[in-house]
Amino acid sequence: EAGSLPGSWERPLEGRVAVVTGAARGIGASIADTLARDGATVVAVDMPAAGEHMTAVANRVRGTALQLDVTAPDAGERILEHALARHGRLDIVIHNAGITRDKLLANMTPEKWDPVLAVNITAQLRINEALLTSGDFTDAPRIVSLASTSGIAGNRGQTNYAASKGGVIGMVRATAPLLEAFGGTANAVAPGFIETDMTARIPAVTRQVARRLNSLQQGGQPVDVAETVAFLASPAAGGVVGRVLRVCGQNMVG
Ligand code: NAD
Repeated sequence: EAGSLPGSWERPLEGRVAVVTGAARGIGASIADTLARDGATVVAVDMPAAGEHMTAVANRVRGTALQLDVTAPDAGERILEHALARHGRLDIVIHNAGITRDKLLANMTPEKWDPVLAVNITAQLRINEALLTSGDFTDAPRIVSLASTSGIAGNRGQTNYAASKGGVIGMVRATAPLLEAFGGTANAVAPGFIETDMTARIPAVTRQVARRLNSLQQGGQPVDVAETVAFLASPAAGGVVGRVLRVCGQNMVG
């Protein structure tokens, strides 16, 4: 099925339909732009509160917008329904929606723990489950999950966030074998510090260090992550399975 799509060198994703969660701004908006540049039709998913931004992104990439909290119990069904009704198919899912609620282990609270795990990992699991058991998802899906270097190396003050992102990595590794036999892939991308609203309030000194110690020679930008995501969604990455690609500008250990 995928082989009959009209993908070309310039537009490798031509004919494919991609869902990007958290697409209203930051890394997700850049992913939407990059996938559309590569030929995909994009469904931009974000919270109802992000409506205006999301519609702007959807219009820019000539795709459609779906207002949806990814933690809704029927999120997967609604994504599939929208993609099939509006675009006739669904090939690529980019799990990008994510939140932080920083807290040290010693004073972690359910208010800081539960929502982070719910958005960053449980929502991905439930959406994957709904899509992969539906029978209407493409035979050879491309699933890319946003993890984080915090999920690999940890990050002081981010016990909840690091747990969620480390969990995403384990989930991707466990999901990938389910897809192999059908020519599908699941992979994770682990960004380091990227300049978005999410990191806008980090201390100036941390930002300075992050900008300097980095092959990117500046704070990482959303597009740096988006290009790696687009590669993993492309036919060129068909043999990359269950991997974690770091986009942090550093040869990190751990
Ligand atoms: P951001 O806060 O700028 O944007 C996140 C988007 O996700 C927002 O538009 C928000 O409305 C949406 N979102 C949040 N909860 C949602 C929900 N329940 N349903 C639907 N949409 C929801 O964040 P960003 O910096 O662009 O981060 C994108 C992803 O990359 C996240 O998963 C984040 O954890 C990961 N990441 C970011 C960095 C960084 O330095 N910025 C580093 C590593 C990983």
